[in-house]
Amino acid sequence: MSVPVYLDHNATTPIDESVLEAMLPFLRQQHGNASSRHEMGTVARRAVDRAREQVAAAVGARPAQVVFTSGGTEANNLFIKGAAAMLRPQQIVVGAIDHPCVAMPARDLVRAGWTLRRLAVDADGVADLGDLDVALRQPTGIVSTMLANNETGVLQPVAAIAARARQARAWMHSDAVQALGKVPVDFEALGVHGLTVSAHKLRGPKGAGALVLDKRIELKPLLHGGGHESGMRSGTENVPAIVGFGAACDLAVARLAAFEAHCVALRDELDARLAAAGATVFGRLAPRVPNTTCFALDGIDGETLVIELDRLGFCVASGSACSSMSTEPSATLLAMGVTPDLARGAVRVSLGPDNDAQQIRDLAAAVAATASRLRRLTAMAV
Ligand code: PLP
Repeated sequence: MSVPVYLDHNATTPIDESVLEAMLPFLRQQHGNASSRHEMGTVARRAVDRAREQVAAAVGARPAQVVFTSGGTEANNLFIKGAAAMLRPQQIVVGAIDHPCVAMPARDLVRAGWTLRRLAVDADGVADLGDLDVALRQPTGIVSTMLANNETGVLQPVAAIAARARQARAWMHSDAVQALGKVPVDFEALGVHGLTVSAHKLRGPKGAGALVLDKRIELKPLLHGGGHESGMRSGTENVPAIVGFGAACDLAVARLAAFEAHCVALRDELDARLAAAGATVFGRLAPRVPNTTCFALDGIDGETLVIELDRLGFCVASGSACSSMSTEPSATLLAMGVTPDLARGAVRVSLGPDNDAQQIRDLAAAVAATASRLRRLTAMAV
């Protein structure tokens, strides 16, 4: 059986060989606890500190600002819940297209007396600053908007949102999980109080992430215990995964320009071929990360197309992998004003450095052929 063509890098990425090499000593002989005082513990502590520097450098922050977590989900929850616990109940503004691990903790705050407001997006999937200005007329404690959308890849004007949030005295957070490694990310330039990143989206291991924090605000930790991570996240550090995260950050920075050039060329060719086959490419006119295309074909169900493409050897996603268990149309596409019928057809292709032009041509041909076949079957059934 031939190896499938992996085109689902927004769900997760294959670990880079050099990242694995960096991790292996900490899975084998260097098994010390980073809190232990002996030599093995010191080796582990130094490795965690080095990774902290690497993650900080990748996002233009200082090492002391990095709180390691189990991933993006935990970092997002830590900011939303940790900030809310320090503030009186008021309004929280969250992007209408934000990931469930931001949207759901925000919704949960309603039970504690907060008002939830979802920040609208335009037809291209970009946050509507006019809607934000209206929202910020209410006393607002927290604003959280993602930097790059996981489904469409559309980039959000986070710096402009943060400037408005700060003026309104709100704490500003951004989920940069889908941005780091794909576009430059700079904590200071964004002007946020908190920034979430995750290792497995940039060729690092699963189970490591970070919340990068402006030290002028204080969050209530989610986990209490031994006081790890400056008291912000108790629990023995996952040293191998953190080491891998650091190595992946170094790699992402070093390869960013090459990644962008490689993926943009492939994505533009894919977009053109899909459009020629009659597909709608969502957010095509908006600034996007270089590796993501989300499209739909009239009358073709996204789930069915994904299954058919899988049979033909292509790994792609319908909507977002995180919600792929659900048959509901994508909330992101609905927020963009896409009809539920067309949104049910959404398929996401997310590229990586190992993909090539032949794979893109083969995929586009497979999409067109499968769509014709499915349409013929539907026509025969009526
Ligand atoms: N935020 C976004 C935008 C994501 O796409 C994901 C995962 O798909 C997450 C957060 C969750 O990150 P993790 O898998 O590290 O928990």
